[in-house]
Amino acid sequence: MEEKKVILLRYGEVFLKGKNRNVFEKKLIENIKNSLSGIDFKFIRTQNRYYIEDYQEYEQDEIIDRLTKVFGLHSLSVATKIKTDYDNLKKAILEFMPEEGTFRVSVKRADKRLDMTSPQIGAMLGGYLLSKNKSLSVDLYYPKSEIFVDIRESGYSYLFRDKIDCAQGMPVGTAGRGLLLLSGGFDSPVAGYRMARRGMEIYAIHFHSYPHTSELAQQKVIDLAQKLTKYCGNIKLFVVKFTEIQQAIHEFCREDFMITIMRRIMVEIAERIAQQNNCGALITGESLGQVASQTTQSITVTNEAVKLLPVFRPLIGLDKYEIMDTAEKIDTYKISELPYEDCCTVFLPKNPVIKPNLEVAKKEQSKIENLDKMIDEAVNGADILDIKVER
Ligand code: ATP
Ligand code: MG
Repeated sequence: MEEKKVILLRYGEVFLKGKNRNVFEKKLIENIKNSLSGIDFKFIRTQNRYYIEDYQEYEQDEIIDRLTKVFGLHSLSVATKIKTDYDNLKKAILEFMPEEGTFRVSVKRADKRLDMTSPQIGAMLGGYLLSKNKSLSVDLYYPKSEIFVDIRESGYSYLFRDKIDCAQGMPVGTAGRGLLLLSGGFDSPVAGYRMARRGMEIYAIHFHSYPHTSELAQQKVIDLAQKLTKYCGNIKLFVVKFTEIQQAIHEFCREDFMITIMRRIMVEIAERIAQQNNCGALITGESLGQVASQTTQSITVTNEAVKLLPVFRPLIGLDKYEIMDTAEKIDTYKISELPYEDCCTVFLPKNPVIKPNLEVAKKEQSKIENLDKMIDEAVNGADILDIKVER
């Protein structure tokens, strides 16, 4: 019997039904193919499913690992593909036979050349399994296991049982591009992941205060961006020298307002770089109340320094442990955990203001000499790193 393993992909039906179906689907297929670069396979598209076929068996686990990270895919199954005939179906279904408990065989028959109906084929295959294993029984309504048999018009059938969850969401690239403020902490990588999951392409910006912060702190951010590429695809990372500005804040401004002003200047620089690079939004890892700079009042004062773009804060309503869970899942946890300080932790005031007043913040900021020039230099002098998916 001619038989081979294939991978069956299910996508989110909801978004594919809208009027932008073609755009979404084109992007999804492109992202699927890109995710499998370097691997030989055939991509097959049918009405409501995709199949990956003709790959080397030893690469199957790698293929599955990559596909589970493609946003827009809901789940996948490893299926057996056979030429349709009753004997072949019986032979192939044995592999999916549960060890015990209740089961059902669910048949979809698109091939009208067969003389049996779907329920009849299901009953025939179910009866065959019962005859092979006495500890099984059929339950059509609440089965413990369900075996699916998809009989296609093409003359081929696909059999499968277990579903592996994929990353869900929307295909990256269908919701424009966002600029992620990426620190070395736990939160911002998770924020980037969350927005990519809604279809945003991700660029990132990192502020460093070398030599007050180490080279290792910068490498940490590069490593985090590298992890994110597994989900987001290639990332352009802007590395901004922030030392001079931070020193100036330290020199000219009230100590308790230092963080507030630093944040305001960061988002101002980020917005300019975003606009030069076609990014339609800023993304941060802020979560309400987590630290003094993340109270409603602090966020108001930071936000006022952004002129036009929306600032997306996908973690705003999440608890720290929920953020940590995602960090574990996307494998950024171990990197974020490393101790190297980023620029926010140097010059840390003892008592940062918790409810900053906007007018006071602006007045303090205005005391900084040559700020506009320093901001221009920071924007124009940013290093640009291309962080590419590693395969
Ligand atoms: P994270 O875990 O993401 O560092 P955090 O809890 O440490 O967040 P803050 O240090 O207050 O919180 O930073 C809030 C947000 O500001 C971060 O999530 C990030 O988006 C941005 N940010 C902070 N520091 C930097 C930096 N050095 N470069 C770029 N963005 C930064
Ligand atoms: Mg931080």
